[in-house]
Amino acid sequence: MSPAREAISFQDATPPFFIGVDVGGTSIKFGLVDDTGRTVRTAKITTHQERGADDAVSRIAAAVDKLLAEAGATMDNVTRIGLGTPGTMDVPAGMLLDPPNLPAWNDFPIRDRLSDSCEKEVTFLNDGAAAAFGEFWIGSGRALSSLIMLTLGTGVGGGIILDDLSIDGEHSHGAECGHVIIDSSPDARVCSCGQPGHLEAYASATGVTKRLRERLDGASSSSLHARIDAGEPPSTLMLAEEAEAGDEFSRQLIWETAEYLSIAVTTLVHTIDPAGVILGGAMDFGGHGASTGREFLARIRKGFRRRTFPVLAEHVIVDFASLGGDAGYIGAAGAARATSRQHLAAG
Ligand SMILES: [Zn+2]
Repeated sequence: MSPAREAISFQDATPPFFIGVDVGGTSIKFGLVDDTGRTVRTAKITTHQERGADDAVSRIAAAVDKLLAEAGATMDNVTRIGLGTPGTMDVPAGMLLDPPNLPAWNDFPIRDRLSDSCEKEVTFLNDGAAAAFGEFWIGSGRALSSLIMLTLGTGVGGGIILDDLSIDGEHSHGAECGHVIIDSSPDARVCSCGQPGHLEAYASATGVTKRLRERLDGASSSSLHARIDAGEPPSTLMLAEEAEAGDEFSRQLIWETAEYLSIAVTTLVHTIDPAGVILGGAMDFGGHGASTGREFLARIRKGFRRRTFPVLAEHVIVDFASLGGDAGYIGAAGAARATSRQHLAAG
């Protein structure tokens, strides 16, 4: 996932320290992170969303204590905790509202409950914003002063960071990049949120797999047939592997996905004008390590450059993320660090 990053010992790390917590629908990932973004230790627990949010908060607090003990540290060494969760949420109020992946956690004051359990201040943010902050701090965006991040997974997550600040918007829906409209035609695909024409309906792993299923019958020569007929469920990983092996149908589906993304990237860049757009998440078709992944990225860049202003075509960087599944907890810790520094600056 992130072979480039090695854990550093607590003694060799640079204080102050921050804990990042990344809550997902299936697992919760933690890390003790130092002032330079290096990870001292990580841990992971199962979300068990069905047991409710109170149960999860107690288990998070216990897991954080265990993590600190294993690292040879205590909560006294931690300046602040960062907590990223899926939306919908009310960031200023510290509330989860109606998160589709955590249906048993509706209307829950998760920030303050975690703060009470750990006896530590908590910075609360959207999981897409947390991933963006991680890439901004020490990942692909580390040289950039502003970025938009799209996380391509089951859905399409978004994060916008401008000068150390996550753009949450007035109603905590400020970086819902997966829900920009890319198709206004009457037969547009319907998004998981129920609205037609949104990017997520076309370029999430769910959307791509759905397009694959719909079109496979018309592509009798595709090498996907053998695997699906053998009982393997279609996935974007299978698509990436068959594309890499030369299957033309798989390749075309991926290039179309790149085209959809380039439309959304153009709209987002025209709204924010960031230094860069970073593409993260599991659906990278092999990323920089595969010719399919490189071509996928090249086509997004090309589609964007064709549609944008010359200055933006020349200067806006479009690249893959580099932190993999660690971006969320690292970014949550980084956001906690940014909050504590703002407090220091405010005196
Ligand atoms: Zn939507």
